[in-house]
Amino acid sequence: MLSKLVPKQSSNPYRLVIFCTQTDRVAFGNCVIEFPSHADIRCNGSSVQANLRGIKNRPGTINPPDVTAQIIMMQGVQNKIDVTFEQSKSAFTITVYLVQKNTVGQLVEKIRKRGFISKEATLNKSMLPPSRGFWRVVDFGLVRAAAQDADIMHGPETLTLKDPISMTRVTLPSKGRHCQHTACFDAATFLTLNEQTPTWTCPICNRSISSDDDLFLDG
Ligand SMILES: [Zn+2]
Repeated sequence: MLSKLVPKQSSNPYRLVIFCTQTDRVAFGNCVIEFPSHADIRCNGSSVQANLRGIKNRPGTINPPDVTAQIIMMQGVQNKIDVTFEQSKSAFTITVYLVQKNTVGQLVEKIRKRGFISKEATLNKSMLPPSRGFWRVVDFGLVRAAAQDADIMHGPETLTLKDPISMTRVTLPSKGRHCQHTACFDAATFLTLNEQTPTWTCPICNRSISSDDDLFLDG
């Protein structure tokens, strides 16, 4: 399985990444990637450069640290990953996963093929996504689905063709499975933004869009 990591260049979609979450969240099956304070990761002795903090007070707004470049792919060689962190009241679970990273283009194509959102899908809130956004776990995996916000009442809206993130014209109008507004945002812009900082919330109503499986075209 690890042979998929060759070549190790960043163009290879297969990556070896570290998922970390607070252990008390694991029981619910809904995990966000979150490291304890002052965490430091070393792979085979050298420091792994990654943003481990994300947006303040918003767990889950970081990408899993990628250790592919530092892995030694040689028979008989044991790779060592050390994670050190400040003492914490919470316990953390750390796992190394082999994942296949999707590009924005691939996810846009997937959403395009799926077509328009149906009323049934909007109403069926039990359909949780099998994978999360860019990181499709090849080995067994953690699935993140943030808690849904309480229902929010919306007043009358005017329909705009301007994307609320980029402020340019929407080319692929979309919204989340749980959105109840008529306004749309651009799917590619949304995905590009979440590739950098994974907040996975609707830029219009702030409801959770757990993964690309929760994103639909809306014409
Ligand atoms: Zn929304």
